[in-house]
Amino acid sequence: MRVVELDGTGDPGVLVPGTRPTPRPGPGELLVRVGACGVCGHDALARRGALAACAGAVLGHEIAGRVVALGTDVPGGWLGKRVALVQRIPCGRCDDCTDGATTHCRSGPGFYGEDLDGGYAEYVRASPLNAVELPDEIDDATGAILSCAVGTGLRALRSAEVGPGQVVIVTGAGGGVGLHTVALARHLGARVVGVVGSPAKADAVRAAGADSVHPCADITAGAAISAHDLRDAVRALGSRRGAHVVIETTGAPTFSTALRALAPRGRLVLVGNTVPGPLPLDPGLTIVKELRVSGSAHADRDDLTEVVELVADGAITPVPARRRPLSEVADAHAELDARTVIGRSVVIP
Ligand SMILES: [Zn+2]
Ligand SMILES: [Zn+2]
Repeated sequence: MRVVELDGTGDPGVLVPGTRPTPRPGPGELLVRVGACGVCGHDALARRGALAACAGAVLGHEIAGRVVALGTDVPGGWLGKRVALVQRIPCGRCDDCTDGATTHCRSGPGFYGEDLDGGYAEYVRASPLNAVELPDEIDDATGAILSCAVGTGLRALRSAEVGPGQVVIVTGAGGGVGLHTVALARHLGARVVGVVGSPAKADAVRAAGADSVHPCADITAGAAISAHDLRDAVRALGSRRGAHVVIETTGAPTFSTALRALAPRGRLVLVGNTVPGPLPLDPGLTIVKELRVSGSAHADRDDLTEVVELVADGAITPVPARRRPLSEVADAHAELDARTVIGRSVVIP
């Protein structure tokens, strides 16, 4: 089968065409013909060598497609189904899995692009434990982005207990996760302040449901929006003492400012880490305001199931930013590096 693999780490030129034997589904596994694969900021970090992926890896963890073969011990009904996949295949047997914490499982086949070959390929291995059936009205390009670009935000918003009337700040609001988190927060009845890296992304974030949008002068240089401006934006939405929740999808460039915009007992949930490294947490502020700072990982199968239902019901409408053939995945990476993509792009093998 055709793949695009990493020939070392570095600029997008290290993404090169290659071939692999088509995988055979093991016991309990599905073989999925990839219909589309999202191109995520996580992939760009992996390509630069900041994550576990190494030379020869086939990246791509945002996958939808059709089940074309079954391993032993898989109910025959899976054959031919169109599915969206969660980015990790859990084992289904370890303590984390039996506790329902499958995102923490480290005993299964693992995370696409790191532990097993990912979706920059014609076929991937999958499992009933990470696959959710897609209805006909959701195409593969949309299905591909539902777990990472949409499910991540849903899981974070749930963990922050976001509800009607609350004010939610979403940083990196023009990114794949950010844009869909804005739409989901709005769907949950919250009012939303979006912080974007570039003014060019503001219209899309407003269209996704943000009540106000604030460019952060140069997110790569860490020049954040001022805390004063952000607090004013929250006040304008009627929350005098600050925001109830921050969903932090960028990390270092906006963390301190966003933390200071929280009301007493506010919750900041970290889901993105675009500039890996430690963050400066102000202990005085955190103690006096009784803030909660937590992390939220990728979606699990239950989250993805809920997202598929929300999209099928028309509650939210994710739209891939751009569709390219797999052979042009390096162009999609270059666009990510330049921070010009709004939302999430996909490649089609
Ligand atoms: Zn992703
Ligand atoms: Zn497990």
